[in-house]
Amino acid sequence: MKLLAPAPGWSAQADVIVVGSGIAGLTTALQVRTFGLSVLLVTKAKVDEGSTKWAQGGIAAALGDDDSPEAHEKDTLVAGAGLCDTEAVRALVTEGPDAVRMLIARGAKFDLEASGEMSLTREGGHLQNRIIHAGGDATGAEVERALIAAVNNDPEIELIEHALVLDALKDKSGAVCGVTLHVIGEGSRDGVGQARARAVVLATGGLGQVFAQTTNPSVSTGDGVALALRAGAAVADVEFIQFHPTVLWLGENSEGQQPLISEAVRGEGAYLVDDHGKRFMKDIHPLGELAPRDVVAIAIMNQMVATGSSHVWLDVRHLEGFEKRFPTIYASCIAHGINPLKDLIPVAPASHYASGGVRVDLNGRTSVKGLYACGETACSGVHGANRLASNSLLEGLVFSARIASDIAATMNEIAEPVANSSQEILLDPQVRHTLQVSMSRGAGVLRSSDSLVSTSSDLTRIGDRTSNVPCVEAWETTNLFQLAQAILKAALIRQETRGSHWRADFPETSDLWRKRIIQQLDPQGNWHTQYQEVK
Ligand SMILES: Cc1cc2nc3c(=O)[nH]c(=O)nc-3n(C[C@H](O)[C@H](O)[C@H](O)COP(=O)(O)OP(=O)(O)OC[C@H]3O[C@@H](n4cnc5c(N)ncnc54)[C@H](O)[C@@H]3O)c2cc1C
Repeated sequence: MKLLAPAPGWSAQADVIVVGSGIAGLTTALQVRTFGLSVLLVTKAKVDEGSTKWAQGGIAAALGDDDSPEAHEKDTLVAGAGLCDTEAVRALVTEGPDAVRMLIARGAKFDLEASGEMSLTREGGHLQNRIIHAGGDATGAEVERALIAAVNNDPEIELIEHALVLDALKDKSGAVCGVTLHVIGEGSRDGVGQARARAVVLATGGLGQVFAQTTNPSVSTGDGVALALRAGAAVADVEFIQFHPTVLWLGENSEGQQPLISEAVRGEGAYLVDDHGKRFMKDIHPLGELAPRDVVAIAIMNQMVATGSSHVWLDVRHLEGFEKRFPTIYASCIAHGINPLKDLIPVAPASHYASGGVRVDLNGRTSVKGLYACGETACSGVHGANRLASNSLLEGLVFSARIASDIAATMNEIAEPVANSSQEILLDPQVRHTLQVSMSRGAGVLRSSDSLVSTSSDLTRIGDRTSNVPCVEAWETTNLFQLAQAILKAALIRQETRGSHWRADFPETSDLWRKRIIQQLDPQGNWHTQYQEVK
């Protein structure tokens, strides 16, 4: 399949095309350059737009004296609820510390203790203090700043902003040899063009915008995963959407990106309380407020269902120096009329992180030759059924280095693309809101056969609302639609509760379901499902 779009009117070329400028894309570009290859880095909006700059808590890595990659691995596997790929986790935790040191060498500055040691904090599911952070709760902003400065310093990385990648180009062997893209630009590179390369790396981030409320920015429409599907690549684990338990609740009708109250706030000792001020997590999990995210999100949803309330409360009033440790969160609360030093903070779960994505091997290769995926777009298997807090920035760092090495070791020639005669698709952008609301209602934190089937029926109606007017909004809406289809199919198939996938009608975890659901689309738009046992 392919998106309905005008024929390319201009062309560009580089050794490697990197799509996206978050931690995964920027680090891939810099790592590719260490092999002397040229890079075309294309990004949909301004260079710093993406989830990375919003990351608050930090980056997990076994850097402390009393920590080890083995301990980090153990915590990651527990959170992943039996679906992690152990080899990928081992790569993450053992290569993580050096990848962080490389980030520091590239200019990122992390918070230090008075002794000059790296300041390490804890988040849900971690049994050690191993989260490094910057500016208190502005880790992602510092990471983006440092990486963008490094990229800007390298004349062999050509950056194109406001460049929305549409679909993959393939050569006669079926390998990916470039992309089509739409640039809102000036001069010769304006409108739809084509860019060719030896390899294409998708680093387009998450897909939070599939849901009505999300912590993700507006660019997180899962374009890379949808592109990979249309290119015939396998996607996996897409049913495992992490809903962050503590997102600032802004009222019944608030939609789009919502402010996050980082897990690190609970790591520093904040309480979750019900309408009567009672702490409810103590009775639910031995780690209390620091239980894995899915456990906390489900406990909050249960509280909300039981009390008929649309949120619960976070109490930080007893935390000394809250406004200094969490300046971004403090400012965000104040901006919404809540003073965390005096008031309880209303919070509710919202879509936050896609643990699944484009299925890749240990070197970031997708199932289609020439196409790689990195960061939140990819399903490397490190997160399994549920991501451990602060492992995602680390994943972007570790796997981008692996991808760059693999590309350098297996250099293809830049090939000529062949015409893509597969079925075209484009939806009316007006359906976006209906789709998001339906997905939140039927495929959110709480799922059941009834809710999923009802949303599937909505999607069938939405799919009839086609358009023949290509534009950014229509392309994004079509991507959201195809992702929603994939999420719903997998969520219906998985008849169990595991990690961040919670089926009210199948509340137990089943050993029979210790397998990945892998989906592919064929050129005619038919879905194919396979299963992969997880050892
Ligand atoms: C509020 C918030 C807080 C978080 N806190 C943490 C944390 O403390 N620790 C942690 O580890 N993780 C955290 N996460 C998750 C983490 O930030 C993300 O998983 C990570 O930043 C993803 O990085 P990425 O490079 O894969 O994608 P992103 O940073 O999202 O970048 C994606 C890039 O792709 C571009 N793009 C998208 N579509 C296209 C297209 N069609 N064409 C061209 N470009 C495109 C975007 O514009 C963007 O530049 C948080 C996420 C959020 C939203």
